[in-house]
Amino acid sequence: MTTPLSPSLTMNDGLEIPQLGLGVYKVPDLEATRVVVDAIELGYRHIDTAAFYDNERGVGRGIAESGAQRADLFVATKVWHDRHGYDATLASFEESLGRLGLEYVDLYLIHWPAPAQDKYVDTWRALEQIRSDGRARSIGVSNFKGHHLDRLAAETSTAPAVNQIELHPRLPQLETRQYDREHGILTEAWSPLARGTLLDEPTLAAVAAKHGKTVAQVVLRWQLDLGNVVIPKSVRRERLASNLEVFDFALDADDLAVIAALESGERTGKDPDFFF
Ligand code: NDP
Repeated sequence: MTTPLSPSLTMNDGLEIPQLGLGVYKVPDLEATRVVVDAIELGYRHIDTAAFYDNERGVGRGIAESGAQRADLFVATKVWHDRHGYDATLASFEESLGRLGLEYVDLYLIHWPAPAQDKYVDTWRALEQIRSDGRARSIGVSNFKGHHLDRLAAETSTAPAVNQIELHPRLPQLETRQYDREHGILTEAWSPLARGTLLDEPTLAAVAAKHGKTVAQVVLRWQLDLGNVVIPKSVRRERLASNLEVFDFALDADDLAVIAALESGERTGKDPDFFF
């Protein structure tokens, strides 16, 4: 096994999270095993899955087959909106752990606030319980806006360690990033490459050519420089490897201006206020 290639960031609970990890959304369960083994061999230490991805078993098999020490890995999963509420979330968490074949996860997230259900505060209380039981080392949220986080702050006693949100040059999420920063919450970028749709942008291709890098590498470098945790997904070994080769170059002010010009507000996913 190789040495980990990503630095770690410290969360507000004092624990560390590898800044660059592997996302496995849309990776079929059977393929997830091979992808996770490849990723760990290449130096990934952080794997982001979810009950909804239907590949926790495959991820768990990959972790077991990789031969990595559990303590060297950072495994995150999430509760889906159909299991919101205190008891349902506790049960869903146990099912996730069972599928992963793990004693604990490093990070457990509420996948979406699902405001129409109005249960995310109770769901968060379940996550607090899971953390105090030592079954999730850290707890956080995903797709929360400032007003959802304000409610957690007003009605519960634990601040989320991370907020995982859609974030890429088209949707730089200035407002939520500022909220997170002001409240000691790490921002984690999902769909950091806008699901691959950014990779044909000619202006980014020019930045990449200037540095002898790929567009994906330029976008990932930008994400790291913002202080985001970032979890690009790939099933291809060569892309898994190249997405890690982002620690040997720096973007300059001209590059940042090119990236800033791509902001359009366009989402690849749903607006959290209106999803379930
Ligand atoms: P990404 O932005 O990571 O893009 C993935 C796409 O880009 C895939 O089609 C992949 O193809 C392609 N790709 C990856 N690397 C390269 C490369 N170097 N060159 C060319 N193409 C590349 O999208 P995701 O939506 O998967 O987001 C990443 C992770 O974020 C997810 O896997 C998941 O863990 C998390 N997520 C969380 C959500 C949430 O609500 N909390 C929602 C969505 C995602 P290929 O695999 O063929 O290489």
